[in-house]
Amino acid sequence: MNLITQLGITPYDEQEGEEYMCENQLSHFRNYLIAWKNLLLNTSELTAGQIQHDATTIPDANDRASYESNLGFLLKRNGRERKLVTRIDKSISAIENNTYGFCKSCQADIGLKRLEARPVANECIDCKSLAEDAEKI
Ligand SMILES: [Zn+2]
Repeated sequence: MNLITQLGITPYDEQEGEEYMCENQLSHFRNYLIAWKNLLLNTSELTAGQIQHDATTIPDANDRASYESNLGFLLKRNGRERKLVTRIDKSISAIENNTYGFCKSCQADIGLKRLEARPVANECIDCKSLAEDAEKI
C-alpha cells in the first residue's frame, strides 16, 4: 500500500489549466504532510512506551537478549522517524514560504506525481539522480 492510501488521503485531482502549486495543491500537500507527521508521532509514542519497559525485570537471559536486540531496532527506527519528522516540518514551512514543489537545485517543478509519492521531495528527479550518481563515485 502506498503512503497516501495508508494515510486515508485522496490523491490530488488536478483540474485542466490549473496552475502548478496553486492554493488547492498547497493545501492538499499541507494536509498530507500533517497527516503523515501525526502518524509518525503516534508510532513514536508507542515506541517510547515499549522502551520504558525495564529489561532488568525479565528473568530469562534469552528473553532479555531478544528484548535488547528489539530495543536496538526500535531505537534505530526512532532515529529514522525523527529525521523524517524534521523533513516534514521543513516541507510544511516551504509551503508557507511558497517554495514547496520546486527543486532546491535547479528550481524546476518537482511535479505532482513525484510529490504524491514522496511529499518531502525537495529536488526534481534529474537533480536527484545526479546527486545519487555523484555519491556512487
Ligand atoms: Zn532540479
